[in-house]
Amino acid sequence: MRIYISIDMEGIPGTFNWEQEKTNRSSIQNCMFHHIQTAIESLLASPQASLIEEITLADSHSAGDNLDYSITALDERINLISGCPRPRYMMPDLDSGYDQVWFLGYHSGTGALHGNMDHTYSNSRIHNIWINGDRMNEALINAAYAGYIGVPVGLVSGDETLKEELLFYLPWIEYITTKKAIAKFSAKNYSQKLVDKQIKLSVLHTLTRTKEEIPLFVFEPPLTLKIEFNHSSMADQAELMPYTKRLDGRTIEYHTDDYAILFEAIMVLVYLAQTTPM
Ligand SMILES: [Zn+2]
Repeated sequence: MRIYISIDMEGIPGTFNWEQEKTNRSSIQNCMFHHIQTAIESLLASPQASLIEEITLADSHSAGDNLDYSITALDERINLISGCPRPRYMMPDLDSGYDQVWFLGYHSGTGALHGNMDHTYSNSRIHNIWINGDRMNEALINAAYAGYIGVPVGLVSGDETLKEELLFYLPWIEYITTKKAIAKFSAKNYSQKLVDKQIKLSVLHTLTRTKEEIPLFVFEPPLTLKIEFNHSSMADQAELMPYTKRLDGRTIEYHTDDYAILFEAIMVLVYLAQTTPM
């Protein structure tokens, strides 16, 4: 059994504001470390522990330099992916041999009502993003990539708002609720003790399911990606990408039949949009 864990920061209990990274980064890193450590320890204490061949951790927040390497000392089967930029941003090196993907510390999509640090890939650039007409968040976009590869998403942790966003699309997931967003930069963080208890239960539950028992989340081609940027100058730059179509001042559309290409196109468009002075 191989487990792939993609880790973000904004849904980790104890976090509430990107300013914390400037004023108290070690506290954020400690919160992330504790959350991931609890999930791994729950995995290693489960009845399936002896079946585990590999646990891959993809440090996927910002520059991918948040988790200390010492997390791998918990067990010799743990590998840690760090650093950025990299191909397939939050899902690097995923292959079809994994049994489950987990998203820990994830957050709601850009524009969510009362989503703690809501954004989709880039808070400064993306105003809205849709695939085949459905409004997306990072968890859904990454889940569809895992589905394309053939690996189901079994477990997610994040705030109450993300839970609501995922309920319709991924009703089978084990969800660990870490906090309630009061506002974009304010949250009621739940007790670490309570969240840890939830992690243990959710990990135990999801491990009782075989890979075949968990549905795959996939988008069927033809695929249409639509991105509304924060400023028209960002769409000017993004439009330089071949095969994009400009829909209006801030919005571009991109068509492909291959989800892996769409997945990479999102980050290319985000990076292109970054090249404008605004
Ligand atoms: Zn993040």
